[in-house]
Amino acid sequence: MKKLSLAKLNDFFAAIAAKQALYLPVNNKVGKADFTKWTAGTEMSKALNTVRSAKDFFFPQTENLMDFKMEGKNIEVIDSREECEDFVVFGVRACDAASFAILDSVYLVDPVDSYYKNRREHGTVVTMACGKPAETCFCGTFGIDAANPAGDVTVWEVADGYMLRANTEKGEALLAATADLLEAGDEKAVEAAQAKTREIMAKLPLAGLTFDGVGVGKTKELFDRPEWKTLSESCLGCGTCTFVCPTCQCYDVRDFDTGNGIKRFRCWDSCMYSDFTLMAHGNSRNSQVERFRQRFMHKLVYYPDRNNGTFGCVGCGRCLARCPISMNIVKVAKTLGGNK
Ligand code: SF4
Ligand code: SF4
Repeated sequence: MKKLSLAKLNDFFAAIAAKQALYLPVNNKVGKADFTKWTAGTEMSKALNTVRSAKDFFFPQTENLMDFKMEGKNIEVIDSREECEDFVVFGVRACDAASFAILDSVYLVDPVDSYYKNRREHGTVVTMACGKPAETCFCGTFGIDAANPAGDVTVWEVADGYMLRANTEKGEALLAATADLLEAGDEKAVEAAQAKTREIMAKLPLAGLTFDGVGVGKTKELFDRPEWKTLSESCLGCGTCTFVCPTCQCYDVRDFDTGNGIKRFRCWDSCMYSDFTLMAHGNSRNSQVERFRQRFMHKLVYYPDRNNGTFGCVGCGRCLARCPISMNIVKVAKTLGGNK
């Protein structure tokens, strides 16, 4: 365990940024936190979490995949990938850190997504335990401990600075590279910070929430439930819930004619959109109720079915906070599963 005094925080950021790009939560013009590249004078946000999750670093909203050049009947395929540089993401919360395992289970299995893998290999994740979890948080439902997040390095905020623990080789390397700014840390201060976080978590409105009524093997039981109609009735199909969600991983692939060749890129897509399943033969999901059901069945049943019971949700609470009609995964799971 290492300690970084508050007075040395900026030197710590500067030491990291001197060697690789450093991103951390920073308040934007409207006072909401976004991951932003650190430069001298950048102040870390005090917000609990960023509006968009940290998945953007490994699965960006748009990404060039390859280029084509055409001359007559000849097509030249150009690998437009740029070598990804090492980078550090600081201040990732426990829920978002847990979401990486879900993304890995999709993108790092055969056939491996080399674009995602490249970014994962070059990124170092520094997590931060939650000092003040919010009323929308329910990571505990999935066994995630907001007081002890994963990542390459875990950071706890204490009275006069931060405690840091390296969890991986990458984390060890980061702390070794900044060793002259660190001193020996105190486990007891970490235990006290953890106890405080767990005390707050236990009093939150969603403390004790279980998803027992949904999950593995429930496809037949849940698919035709009449509640889907009422639950989805007001859904605007705006896709906000999918874009802020750290575990949503669907994308579309498009070609763009630059006039001087073709650029093939991918961009996030949403199962809430009417053209998500539009194919040459037509559309297999023609109503919002079908699209809505797909989003929640995927997270609550299909994904757990294929991943030893792990849900496709990490309880970050973003969909609870951001949906314009106040619909969210907790309401769906409670309605379908009979949970309180
Ligand atoms: S559930 Fe809410 S956020 Fe998601 S698409 Fe519907 S209206 Fe938008
Ligand atoms: S479904 Fe909602 S609460 Fe769960 S991970 Fe996605 S945005 Fe967070």
